[in-house]
Amino acid sequence: MVSKLIADKTMEQWVKQHPILEEIVYADEVFWPNPAYRMENSKNTLTNADIDDAAERLKRFAPYIAKVFPETMETEGIIESPIKPIRSMQRVMEQKYDVAFQKDLLLKCDSHLPISGSIKARGGIYEVLKHAEEVASKHHYISVDQNYTQFDSDTFRTLFSNYEISVGSTGNLGLSIGIMSAQLGFKVTVHMSADAKQWKKDLLRSKGVQVIEYESDYSKAVIEGRKQAENNPRCHFIDDENSRNLFLGYAVAASRLKEQLHVMNIEVNADQPLFVYLPCGVGGGPGGVTFGLHAEFGEHVHCFFAEPTNSPCFLLGQLTGLQDKISVQDFGLSNQTDADGLAVGRTSSFVGETIRHLLSGCYTIQDARLYALLRDLADTEDIFLEPSALAGFYGPVQLMSQQSGRNYIKKHNLTDKMKQAHHLIWATGGNMVPQEVMQGYYEKGKNINI
Ligand SMILES: *Cc1c(COP(=O)(O)O)cnc(C)c1O
Repeated sequence: MVSKLIADKTMEQWVKQHPILEEIVYADEVFWPNPAYRMENSKNTLTNADIDDAAERLKRFAPYIAKVFPETMETEGIIESPIKPIRSMQRVMEQKYDVAFQKDLLLKCDSHLPISGSIKARGGIYEVLKHAEEVASKHHYISVDQNYTQFDSDTFRTLFSNYEISVGSTGNLGLSIGIMSAQLGFKVTVHMSADAKQWKKDLLRSKGVQVIEYESDYSKAVIEGRKQAENNPRCHFIDDENSRNLFLGYAVAASRLKEQLHVMNIEVNADQPLFVYLPCGVGGGPGGVTFGLHAEFGEHVHCFFAEPTNSPCFLLGQLTGLQDKISVQDFGLSNQTDADGLAVGRTSSFVGETIRHLLSGCYTIQDARLYALLRDLADTEDIFLEPSALAGFYGPVQLMSQQSGRNYIKKHNLTDKMKQAHHLIWATGGNMVPQEVMQGYYEKGKNINI
């Protein structure tokens, strides 16, 4: 019998080369330290100056954002989220998983970012603003030294009504881009996969956004969106798999995080490393943040990506080195998960290559555990996240309790430093979820015995 080939190799050959694949293909939870971490420089064409440029652009737009989204008035139009210690949740995790953290576990609350309630309010909104600036300056409506509150005017809205923005999305990216584009006056189309939630489609339609639905998964929605945009020179397609702008929008988070930690009296250095745990879909959000964090903290930051056991596309891309040449389905996995923000079967090569040597590792988490964590966080801290956004919580547990996690600590000479280490969990979404939907998630958690 000839067994099926996966990128020129049989499953047996793959497993022989990477024994962890045996667990991955059975949708077991795994913790995978990246052997390429800090081995050499990643292939990348982006620099720290590019991140600074993005940060400056967001500052130029801040007066406009504060004007049209009054919920950002407090931060003067800068779209940013707080960091919270979560001591009660920490105690529950320590007990349940028999681990101990010396410092407070920290939660980065991108779930409560203004405007669209997810990490996509960083990358998605940034790319729409950048495009608006390009169109406006091409038509001599604006220059960088002028007051950007002018973007909130009929003159600008009339200009943008001749232009279209489109995007393929599992949901949250569509929300960010739809809301921002509609506010500026662009025509906007969101191509959505079958797993996108009904309330997200309804919300977008209520804002005048055209929503096109596909029976299949996220990759198909992106392909269709890209194809339709190619035929229209006035349409800007926001390409989640290849966009440098999205990536840079996410990267800006890092310098602000450094400032926030400083205010909390937390410095990151050789004696006090920072571990960060980020839920990962296609890779742009966590990848951009990781790129930014390494620009700020260098080798003193350790970033781990979390994926559902049925959708570990980033892990497979890194492990095999094949990036977007393979999908989770090629390895027999379903890409079915309730973590809709992470239901991505094929990763981004651009992101995978750019952060190949900055990524500390990946791990996977089963859906039931996401709901259990959702329940525990709600019960202990009264913080409600969407299932995807809980994936980060399992990282510190796995790092401390799995042999592969302990090997990472040893290999990078961190054993003596763990007492001073901070663990920061990136909560990536949840605040926009309607209450009755959230109640359903919580009930599901109540029925799970983890
Ligand atoms: C999009 C998203 C992510 C991951 O971002 P990618 O850029 O797809 O890797 C994580 N959590 C939530 C809630 C998201 O919406």
